[in-house]
Amino acid sequence: MPFVTPRTLQRHYDVIVVGSGAAGGQTAYTLAMEGVKVLMLEAGRAYDFRTETPMFQSYAAAPLRGADTPDKPFGFYDATVDGGWAVPGEPYTNASAEEGRQFEWWRARMLGGRTNHWGRIALRNGPYDFKPFSRDGLGFDWPIGYEDLAPYYDKVEMLIGVYGSNEGLENTPDSPEGCLLPPPAARVGERLLARHGAKLGLPVVPIHRAVLTRALDHVNIPAKLHPGNPRAQRILAQAMRERAACFWATPCSRGCSIGANYQSPSVHLPPALATGQLDILCNAHAYEVTLDKRGRASGVRFVDKTGGRHLAAQSRVVVLAASACESVRILLNSKSARHPEGLANSSGRVGRFIMDTVGSDLVGQVPRLEALPPHNEDGAGGAHVYTPWWLYGRQGARWAEGGLGFARGYHIEIGVGRRMPNMGTPFGLEWLTQGSYGARFKQDMRRYYGSFVYLAGRGEMIPNEHSRCELDPKAKDRFGIPVLRFHWQWSPHETRQAAHMKRTFAELIGAMGGRLKEGPELDGAKAIAPGGSIIHEVGGAMMGPDRRTSVTDPSCRTWDVDNLYLTDGAPFCSNADKNPTLTIMALAWRAADRIVDRLKRKEL
Ligand SMILES: Cc1cc2nc3c(=O)[nH]c(=O)nc-3n(C[C@H](O)[C@H](O)[C@H](O)COP(=O)(O)OP(=O)(O)OC[C@H]3O[C@@H](n4cnc5c(N)ncnc54)[C@H](O)[C@@H]3O)c2cc1C
Ligand code: SF4
Repeated sequence: MPFVTPRTLQRHYDVIVVGSGAAGGQTAYTLAMEGVKVLMLEAGRAYDFRTETPMFQSYAAAPLRGADTPDKPFGFYDATVDGGWAVPGEPYTNASAEEGRQFEWWRARMLGGRTNHWGRIALRNGPYDFKPFSRDGLGFDWPIGYEDLAPYYDKVEMLIGVYGSNEGLENTPDSPEGCLLPPPAARVGERLLARHGAKLGLPVVPIHRAVLTRALDHVNIPAKLHPGNPRAQRILAQAMRERAACFWATPCSRGCSIGANYQSPSVHLPPALATGQLDILCNAHAYEVTLDKRGRASGVRFVDKTGGRHLAAQSRVVVLAASACESVRILLNSKSARHPEGLANSSGRVGRFIMDTVGSDLVGQVPRLEALPPHNEDGAGGAHVYTPWWLYGRQGARWAEGGLGFARGYHIEIGVGRRMPNMGTPFGLEWLTQGSYGARFKQDMRRYYGSFVYLAGRGEMIPNEHSRCELDPKAKDRFGIPVLRFHWQWSPHETRQAAHMKRTFAELIGAMGGRLKEGPELDGAKAIAPGGSIIHEVGGAMMGPDRRTSVTDPSCRTWDVDNLYLTDGAPFCSNADKNPTLTIMALAWRAADRIVDRLKRKEL
């Protein structure tokens, strides 16, 4: 009985997983494939990627020709069907009104969460990224190292399908043979960038993205992922057969009805449901972990959004995977006489040290890319190449002498090419055309279309005391549940890094013979994107070796409640420049393995 209603819920489950995105999807998958009975509580509505994905619709068929609106900030056809920068009736607050001190919180509310839309950039953290404090004395080390997570990166890559290449670059791990799919060929602009980047010492190499450039190896991978479990192997082989390879035509941010990119509803949930071990309850907004007399987690309280009733479900183990800040909120709202500061918070660290990614960008126009003959550059629905951080040698213990002024790095995401034009395509061309209309405008469009290069830096933020969240003392959501209040502050490490991004991008565009509309903003405080706006928020319930200074142990189990786990980004101790989702999934698989072991040993 895969999709359940409050009336058809079982009385008791082995594990309740809150959330169905990257973290919840991976956790439920691993548990269900191992025969564990799981209930997934998802606050959003159900979503069928096969029938609801608007892959082939043209912008002309959409209201406002598909333009961004406050409800649909990424355009009308974006895969996020509910939620975004604002969720009706579910506010959050910021402690400061000051510019630069605010946090923006993107929340998808639908089955699969943000994985329906995400950019699919799937990079491994490297060895330095797990031990940043040891390297430069700033932030925190993780209690685990790259070697602990590497086998799980391998498994996740094989399961979801990630294209990319092994380049042997510093702190940019290679994957073992058989993990990665071949990368797509670079586009014209990407090749030009690689040529001129090399002159500046910037590597431009295939990016890693969760898109199938060829069908998955359904013959060999299932046995590697589920050794000794023939039923799981059969189910996974079938699920892999049902995913087609990319046909290089449609924007991935709309979702993919053929399952060629990774979305939790197309990759994690179908095989987990096929085991018969996963029940999914949608429209179930969780707000509290309940405890039994011994102080162990006994289940979850939630609001049934279809009827407004407050209900409870019971289980032997509870896993919060509602996204980092929402899981923190659930812990803080699970107050009791025994846990007056919120659950699992004896260290006082729940809500502390939240992080986003440092972001800054620049667009340039490159005359060499003008008036190219018409050709199809849609490709794999996103970037084919990127630039990993190339200046590790100027950081580490002696970063202050390296001349950069900041201790951690960034990578460069590259946007070029001639994808389906939309309403935004002709905007802002006046600095090139001096304003044109009619036939001349058409000529100009043909000339300039595809000649722009968009460079986005994605950098590491060092966790700090001033970036945190707590319960707002007054504000509540429409269900009467206290909401989060954010505190935010960048340090000079981040603002200087943002200024460096702008300078580098301007140099790179200049090296390509390109031009800028105006000079780059070199004041880092202005160059940096607002906190939270890169949508890579992690931290808030850090893992560690010592219960006095961390919320979870190295297996993502809370120190205070033996059968309560956090498998989203909340336990992150640092937020490397590498986009966080592959690491979230690897950690979730690892935590789920521990839960399976403990259930088998009857410890839970
Ligand atoms: C536009 C965009 C582009 C991105 N690009 C990339 C990228 O290229 N690479 C990358 O690594 N990351 C990217 N990300 C970030 C990535 O999407 C997240 O890191 C990832 O989805 C986090 O997984 P999660 O399961 O923790 O959270 P989510 O995917 O957000 O899933 C959380 C789920 O929990 C549900 N939920 C929330 N609260 C409750 C509650 N109280 N009760 C029950 N259910 C609840 C939500 O509805 C949601 O379904 C991007 C995000 C966005 C929005
Ligand atoms: S580009 Fe490929 S992976 Fe992306 S939505 Fe289209 S078919 Fe799917």
